[in-house]
Order: sequence, then C-alpha cells, then structure tokens
Amino acid sequence: MTSALAGLPLAVEETREVFEGIGTLGEGIFYALAFTSTSVFAWGCWRRIRKYRRGRPAGRFRSRESRVAAPSNGERVTATPNGEQATAVVQGAPTRNGSANGHTVDAGTAAHSLVALAANTTVRKRDRAAGIAHFLVFWGFITLFIGTVILTIDYDIVRNATNALGEERSFFKGAFYLGYSVILDTMGLAFVLGMLYLMWRRAFGHKAALDYTRAEKPEGGYSRDEFVQGDWLFLGLLFALLSTGFLLEGFRIRASGFPSFEVWSPVGWLIARGVRAVGIGTGGAGDVRIAMWWVHAVMAMGFVAYIPFSKAMHMLTDTANVVAFDPASARRLHAPRPGADHIGYRTLDDFTWKELLDLDSCTKCGRCHVACPATASGAPLSPRDFILDLRQWADESTGGRTFLDRERRPTTTGPLAGNGDVRVAGDVITVETLWSCTTCMACVEACPVGIEHVSTIVELRRNLVDEGAMEPTLQSALQNLAQQGNSFGKSSRMRARWTKELDFEVPDARTTPVRYLWFVGDFAAFDERLQELSRTLARILHDAGVDFGLLYEDEWNSGNDVRRVGEEGLFEMLVEHNVAAFESASFDEIFTTDPHSLNTLRNEYPEFGLDKPTRHYTEVLADLLESGAIPTRSLDVRVTYHDPCYLARYNGVTDPPRRVLRALGCDLVEMPRNKDNTFCCGAGGGRIWMDDSGLEERPSENRIREAAELDVERFVVACPKDFTMYTDAAKTTGHDDRLQVVDVIQLVDEARVAADLVVTE
Ligand code: SF4
Ligand code: SF4
Repeated sequence: MTSALAGLPLAVEETREVFEGIGTLGEGIFYALAFTSTSVFAWGCWRRIRKYRRGRPAGRFRSRESRVAAPSNGERVTATPNGEQATAVVQGAPTRNGSANGHTVDAGTAAHSLVALAANTTVRKRDRAAGIAHFLVFWGFITLFIGTVILTIDYDIVRNATNALGEERSFFKGAFYLGYSVILDTMGLAFVLGMLYLMWRRAFGHKAALDYTRAEKPEGGYSRDEFVQGDWLFLGLLFALLSTGFLLEGFRIRASGFPSFEVWSPVGWLIARGVRAVGIGTGGAGDVRIAMWWVHAVMAMGFVAYIPFSKAMHMLTDTANVVAFDPASARRLHAPRPGADHIGYRTLDDFTWKELLDLDSCTKCGRCHVACPATASGAPLSPRDFILDLRQWADESTGGRTFLDRERRPTTTGPLAGNGDVRVAGDVITVETLWSCTTCMACVEACPVGIEHVSTIVELRRNLVDEGAMEPTLQSALQNLAQQGNSFGKSSRMRARWTKELDFEVPDARTTPVRYLWFVGDFAAFDERLQELSRTLARILHDAGVDFGLLYEDEWNSGNDVRRVGEEGLFEMLVEHNVAAFESASFDEIFTTDPHSLNTLRNEYPEFGLDKPTRHYTEVLADLLESGAIPTRSLDVRVTYHDPCYLARYNGVTDPPRRVLRALGCDLVEMPRNKDNTFCCGAGGGRIWMDDSGLEERPSENRIREAAELDVERFVVACPKDFTMYTDAAKTTGHDDRLQVVDVIQLVDEARVAADLVVTE
C-alpha cells in the first residue's frame, strides 16, 4: 500500500489550509450548502433541458449514417456566428421533410465554433472594447472555476483516498501551489478589470444597444425594470465573488504573518499590506478572514444555485448554441413539416430544440436591435424583443422560473400570456411586427451567440399567410405571382419586351446553346426605370463577345422573396416552373442581375434539381474588365458603394463589385456600414410589396443620409431594387442634386463610352 503512494509528495511545504479555522461543524455546514446549491443547479438545468427536449428535431447532429446518405452540395459556408471565421463544408442540402435545417455539426464545424468561442471572436466583432473585456471575464471565470475544481480534487478526492489508504497525500503544495496561486491571482485580476469595464459601460456608456425600451409599444404599457435589476445582480454577484475572494486571500496572508512564498499571490499580498497599513493586526485579520470565508462561500453557493434561473445561464446555453449554429439557416430556408395540421408555427410544440435554445441564449446585448433596419425606421420590430418575447412566452407556457429576467405587463396578451389559447403569430408577436422584417439577416450576423432570428420569423409568417393575415398589397403581389409568374401582374409574354429596343437579338437559351443564361429577375425585366439598365448590360456583354441567352417568357420570379414572405406553396410552384425551364435550355452557368434571385438560385434551387452554378452580374463584369474584354477609360469620380444584403451578407459577394470599381478607376469611399455589416434598403423579405408610408424614416433614407455624410458624387448600387429604392430616397431626403444613384452597369458603360470617344478622336 505504501509503495503505491511513494511517488506522491507529502502534504508539507508551501500551501494553505482549505478549511483553516472553520472547524468540523463549519465544514459540515459548508458541504450541506454545497450539496443544496448543486442540487438546485442540477434541477434548474434539468428544467431547461426538459424544455429543449420538447422541441422538434433540428437536424444539427445527425448520425454519421444519415450524413453519408444525405445529398451534398459541397457549399462553403462560414462556420461561426458573424461569419468571421474560416469556412466549412455543410454536408447535406436542406431536407424537405421539415425536420431539419440541413446543417450538420460535425467535428470540423464544432471545432471552428469552439475556437471562436475560446477567442471570443463573435463578441469582439463590432465592439472591440466590449469583446476584450468579455474575453478577460470569460477566461478569468474559467480559470477560477478550474482552480476550484483542482482544489476540490485535491482536498476531497486525493486527500481522502490517500488517507483511506494509510497516509494522506496532496499535490496542492510546493511549486504546484505557487504556480496555481500566481495564475489564479493574475486571471482573477484580469476578470476584475473586465468586469469593471463592463459595469462602467453599462452605467455610463449610454449605449443604445443596452437601452431596453421596446420597439413595439404594447397597449397598457410594460416594465422592463427587472431586466436592468437582473443585469446588475449578475454583474454585482460576479464582482462581489471576486472581491471577497481577493479580500479573503489578503486577510489570510496578513493573519499568517506574511509567509514569504505568499508573494506568489501578488494581489492578495498587496491587499494584505493594505490591511496592515490601516492598522489591522494578525488577530483581527484572522477574525475578519473567518467572516470573509463564510461570506465568500455562501455567495459562491448562492451563485451556483442562481445560474439556471437567471441571465447567468447564458454561460452554458451560449456554448451549445454557438456550436449548433447554422450559418445557412436564413439563406437556405427549410420546407414546412409534412403532415402537420397547420402551416408555420402556431404552438410551442412547433419549435425545434435549437429555436428554444436560441431563446435562452439571448444575453440582451442589443447588437441585433441596433443593427435592425426595421427598428431604426420606427417599425414595431426589434429582433432582440422578438427573442425576449418568445422566451417569456415559452417560459410561461412551460412553467419555467426566472429570477429578475422578465418583462411585466398589466395585460394578459403578449409574451405574458402563456395559456393554450394564445397564437404565437399574431398574439405573442404581433402581425405588424412580423411583417416589418426585411429578412436582411443583420440580426443573425450581429448576434454573438448564434441566434437564428430570420428562419423563426419566416415560420411565424407562414402561419400568418396560412390564415390570410397580410396586407392587401402583399396579397395582390402574391396573386400576380401565382397567375402570371411575376409580381407586376403583367403577361409573361411581356417579360423580354425590353430586348426589342436592342439592335441585336438576344439568343433564346431554350433553342440555342449558350454559355451564360441570364436570369434577369422581375424588376430588371418589367420596371420601366430599370429596363434601360438591362439593355445597357446586354450591350456591354454583347460587345464584349459574351455568349449569353434568356429564357424569355419561361423565366418566372425566382421565389426568393415569396419564400421569405412565408408562401411556401407558391415558392415551390415558381421553383418547379423555373427548374423545368432550366432543363429545357442549354447553358453552362447562370448569372443574374438580382441578388435576391442569386440567393435562392445558388442556395435553394439545388435541392430542387438545379445543378448549374449561379453568379452575380458584377462577378461576370469584374472578370471581363480585368481580362480586357471591355475596353474602358479611367473614370475620375469619387463614389461610395452600397452592399446589397442578399449579395454581401447572404452570399459573401463583396469583392467583385469593388473589383469593377477599381478597374474603372473610381475613387471608392467605403460606407461606414459596409460588406457583411451593410444596412438594408428596406425592400427585402417581401417588404417591397408592402406599404412603408407609416415608417418614421425608411431604411433607404437612413442609408442615403449615411452616404451624404461622405464626400462623394455617386452612390453605386448593384441591385435593381436598390436602384429604385435609393433613387426615390435621394429625392425624398433632398440629396438628389449632389448624390447621384447609379448602378455598376452605368459606370461600366460610361467608362467604355469614354474609351470609345478616345479611340474615335
Ligand atoms: S432580418 Fe433584418 S429586418 Fe428582420 S429582424 Fe433581422 S435585422 Fe431586423
Ligand atoms: S438576439 Fe443576439 S444580438 Fe440580439 S440581444 Fe440577444 S444575444 Fe444580443
């Protein structure tokens, strides 16, 4: 027995006694407290897990077998929230059985997510100072937690086990103890500094993101005071735990007469010197140490019990949520479940476990709230409030208990109404709120914890559409789409009429094999203001020798916005028509003028049989310009460029338009909000078909004002809808005299005309 223990050091040398002066009774009370708090923690976690288990499958952790069986489109996607991390391969196209979003978390994506979590990448994005402070708190907390676990292993397992074997041993001494002390002190100090910054920011930072005022104002009023109190309780508890820990250490060092090795606890050492400096002797310090020990211990036990009932739970839920995050959930929506007795979400049982986990993961950081164009324009939608309302409703419905983390309302409607009669789409989240969303995905992109607002909003919209709860203008656009295949309600034979004014014929890809099939999109084909742009692009491509053709009347609306409105049946009808048209044509690639069409053709149509790549026209133009196929003369013009949401944020196409501008010699001044942080024009998600006259400020007007702050002559767009939205916004904001809205196509044409003139001269 003794020989088995021979390699372990004896419990002598530099160390500290864990329960020094606490006594046997005190030790017993401590363990009773620890048992109680751990039991409450486990019970609270179990209640949460039980709620998630109630959710439908989300298809995030499919078995290896089903992943092998699933069709793979090999699409590259960013693997972590915010899209900042490396890319990964999503295995399996979205399933159409409605049980999964098509994203499989495998070892690679999970590893990427965990690295992002460890580096706090998603928290640092958009707010570097808060991210760094959170990093300090995050690693400080983990280090102190590991320190406590190490101490427990030594005291409760190693010592007891070796004692039972005959001779008590411990590794918590000597060099190990000194290293442990300096690491925990340093990380504890980092934790304190991070906490101080976060508390200062909350108290004095005047951050709009941390203002809990609702976007939608419920009748009868509301109070979110508990949110504020809960935040401060969480921060205050953590800070008090740290402070008492350091004070305890300082009084212990003072009481033990400054043993020289305790200099390895530098913060405690400094506090001990302070204690001595104010005249507290060793006896007094010993008494205070005992009191401080109990305060610290009770507070720590209380904190453990409090975690699953409070904001502190995000420390656990966020890890799981980031790992299970599907970066493609908005760009590639999944079909409604077959066999359900209703379409879209009506009850809590309609939600997947990931959607329920989303609700508990929200930290109320407000980053989505300040990024949302609907919120900024005075609409009743805030993605933060959307999640918080659903969370409260889900908790009410399942008897969940939260502590200082609830909104109070005098009425029984809205999120407080957790009874079975309440409809989630319409009562918990109002109809107006749901129709305010442009599906721009700024919320998903901004959220540091992997919450997927857009796909949930679309599920609720599906239910509204099913019940006919939509604006007449939207209804009429959907009717047009169902009858004519376009939202303008024009005969499909008119779709290619814009080509009549060209002095060459655009090949019909259904009868003539072409390299590129140009999917023009409704706006570029039917809107008279945009038809000239389409003709200009056709001329540019024709003159550059590009082999392209059209589907003519067989092109129907791509259905991207129809799907995001929630009209899945119509979406599938449009897709099936277009896929049949693609199959009747002969081409190698598709390019489209419309970023919305690009999104669905690229990400959703493959599930329906499209097996050709889809590009945006700026990608084609960039290649042509760089290869010299389009002769141009440098334009001496200062421009800014607006990234369309569906191009930049959804599909990562940010460089090609800039390559075009560079090739044209434009002096590009970036918008403050650019690339994946772009700001929506307000037209997406079917909003183009809805009335926006009630908004305080249209998103497009907000954007034009942003551009007007820059010293530029042109506001460049790369989307037909953007061209109309921003041309109107420049007028309504009074900036049209000094800020000209132009499409990339117009700039290319201007540069090549200038080159022609030089040649002619
Ligand atoms: S998708 Fe855009 S408009 Fe909709 S909630 Fe998110 S940020 Fe707001
Ligand atoms: S949903 Fe995400 S971004 Fe929005 S408040 Fe919650 S945690 Fe922050």
